[in-house]
Amino acid sequence: MLDVGSGQAAHPRCDLVVDKYVADDFERGKPLDLAKPLVVADGHSLPFGDDTFAYVIASHVLEHATDVPRFASELQRVAAAGFVQVPSREAELTFGWPFHPWLIDLRDDTLVFRPRGDQSAPLGRVFHEAFAESTLFALWFGANRERWHHTLHWKAGFDVQVDGESAAPATARLDVDLTLAALPKLGAIGPEGALRQSLRCPADGGTLSDGTASLTCTRCGSSYPVARGGVPLLLAEAAS
Ligand SMILES: [Zn+2]
Repeated sequence: MLDVGSGQAAHPRCDLVVDKYVADDFERGKPLDLAKPLVVADGHSLPFGDDTFAYVIASHVLEHATDVPRFASELQRVAAAGFVQVPSREAELTFGWPFHPWLIDLRDDTLVFRPRGDQSAPLGRVFHEAFAESTLFALWFGANRERWHHTLHWKAGFDVQVDGESAAPATARLDVDLTLAALPKLGAIGPEGALRQSLRCPADGGTLSDGTASLTCTRCGSSYPVARGGVPLLLAEAAS
């Protein structure tokens, strides 16, 4: 089982986590959960072959995507089934997160993404504070969870519709050197054995030669760094 962008809470049953932002917690609010083996990669170009996993979890990550159809098709390419959860339009206009470019509706099992434009959550700060400080508020939020989230359990696949283009007003920053320095300090561990063998070049799906400091694609020759502790950075931004 793969967990993509699980952030501060990797699923207890997952075997591997993919996350892009290690050193910058901006889109997460809390430090990354590093209990599971990690690969630093981008959901738009997952570094695995087709049908590598039985199941993929994408919980509160697809709403961060810049190219939603590509991210969604990558999830469906690498796994046979999965779970997707995103904040609803109502949550977005009640709480508001500046790093989400979209307002999302669920129509007949299709997730419909529309640019958020200049629609914001004017009282968002009040709601975020209430959520953090009030047990009663958290209970009310939990009791109305279906209003705040759209949830899909998919098997053969799932559909997304995107009406227009959008970019978030503010996003986390990826700094390759900072990431390489942070991973060993945080005690992050990389994949081993069969998981390690499942890794592919994110650019072209080529197999990767073995190496402790870097992995090199046998197809395009791109080389990807591996942090001390064994976490590979399989990202276009880190390739040389
Ligand atoms: Zn390659």
